[in-house]
Amino acid sequence: MENNVKINYDHVMQDIISSLTDRKRILLHSCCGPCSSACIERLKDYFDITVIYYNPNIEPLAEYQHRKEEQLRLLNLWHIPHLEVPYNNERFNQITKNLEREVEGGRRCAVCIGERLKYTALKARENKFDYFTTTLSVSPHKNSELINTIGLSLAKHYNVAYLPADFKKHDGFKKSIEYSKKYHLYRQDYCGCRYSKKGTYEE
Ligand code: SF4
Repeated sequence: MENNVKINYDHVMQDIISSLTDRKRILLHSCCGPCSSACIERLKDYFDITVIYYNPNIEPLAEYQHRKEEQLRLLNLWHIPHLEVPYNNERFNQITKNLEREVEGGRRCAVCIGERLKYTALKARENKFDYFTTTLSVSPHKNSELINTIGLSLAKHYNVAYLPADFKKHDGFKKSIEYSKKYHLYRQDYCGCRYSKKGTYEE
């Protein structure tokens, strides 16, 4: 019989945090400054956080740079370190070939999320972090089940611990908006790739 019980990833995260006996190092994949704000707030009492801004999906380049500058501005204000990585839009184009017309939330997004989490997992392993995770679940538009399933599978494959999360819980998204207002952070109006930008594929 099929098991349709939904996992509460916020509870899973809380259970892991409760079991910690000391502060751990975590590599937090972030999609943008606003989303990272609420996640950092949630994790900072238990983890030494380093942020990785690996987002080869964000287009055009000027948009990628603008989001990155805003991310770094927030991290500087909060004294949170970040791990510098290159922009690799070619990689995104390669892995999403023939998925151009997928709807948002479909197969292209699973591939896109998988790429960003895989890169983060490898960097976490290389730099001996205790955990890796992502800010992506703070968005009400993103599927937490999918994000966490990918994260847990990568953790198993690459032998590095993943911290499951559902950062939209506890008013996470609302808090990210409040922090954006407080620090005048730029908030984009599309997910990131050119396909998610309104009008790109309208005929
Ligand atoms: S819509 Fe967002 S998650 Fe989906 S492929 Fe584009 S950038 Fe990635």
